[in-house]
Amino acid sequence: MRKNIVAGNWKMNLDYNEGLSLFSEVLNMVKDEATGTQEVVVCSPFIHLHSLAQLAKGNGRVSIGAQNAHQAESGAYTGEVSAKQIKSVGAAYVILGHSERRQYFGETNQLLAQKTDTVLANGLKPIFCIGETLQEREANEHFNIIKTQLEEGVYHLDADKFGQIVLAYEPVWAIGTGVTATSEQAQEIHAFIRQELAAKYGQQVADDTTILYGGSCNAKNAGELFAQPDIDGGLIGGASLKSRDFTDIVKAFN
Ligand code: 13P
Repeated sequence: MRKNIVAGNWKMNLDYNEGLSLFSEVLNMVKDEATGTQEVVVCSPFIHLHSLAQLAKGNGRVSIGAQNAHQAESGAYTGEVSAKQIKSVGAAYVILGHSERRQYFGETNQLLAQKTDTVLANGLKPIFCIGETLQEREANEHFNIIKTQLEEGVYHLDADKFGQIVLAYEPVWAIGTGVTATSEQAQEIHAFIRQELAAKYGQQVADDTTILYGGSCNAKNAGELFAQPDIDGGLIGGASLKSRDFTDIVKAFN
């Protein structure tokens, strides 16, 4: 059966010391306060990864993730970071295909398919993001967009490899806008994704895939979102930067 996960995406926020303090607070709060969340993941900038992984060592429930990785194994790619390097500092996850990477860095489904392969080949788990823009939703294209993102980004994987992936539905219009998808809107898409996965990989794989919701998820709305049958947790941006807010979201599973 699939795992529920609450993952924070710090994006390009927090200097080194601020990141360490926030993470230490989260570790303590998550340890002390009861929650039914099975795994907590913090996806930090690269500069924090090694130190956070050290702090989380021995904690069976808290993992560390990066927010991007290069598609090549290694080489002359000045300024880039490889999956192998990320793995070597103790991270377990890599966010791939975040809409900000797609929008500002021109990442296409084809490139993301390559990144997915490299990340998996290095023993890391992708948190693969999909989601439509407001324009696409208004044109009633959202189901097609999501289907294409899956087809071109991850459907080249066999069922075994696909089983390593976490999906995150992040409607672009809900990211950082304070406008959350309603729990009905989110559930509708999550159910659609699971149905697509069942058609491609079979019902068992579909049932075992963790699908997170992301986009203005906060301590107030997390409970209702996570109570939906096909929503298995959240990918949290802004609210992951405050230990109390993030822990309250982690506690939304009880
Ligand atoms: P916000 O929670 O700030 O809307 O960001 C969501 C997100 O992009 C997580 O990856």
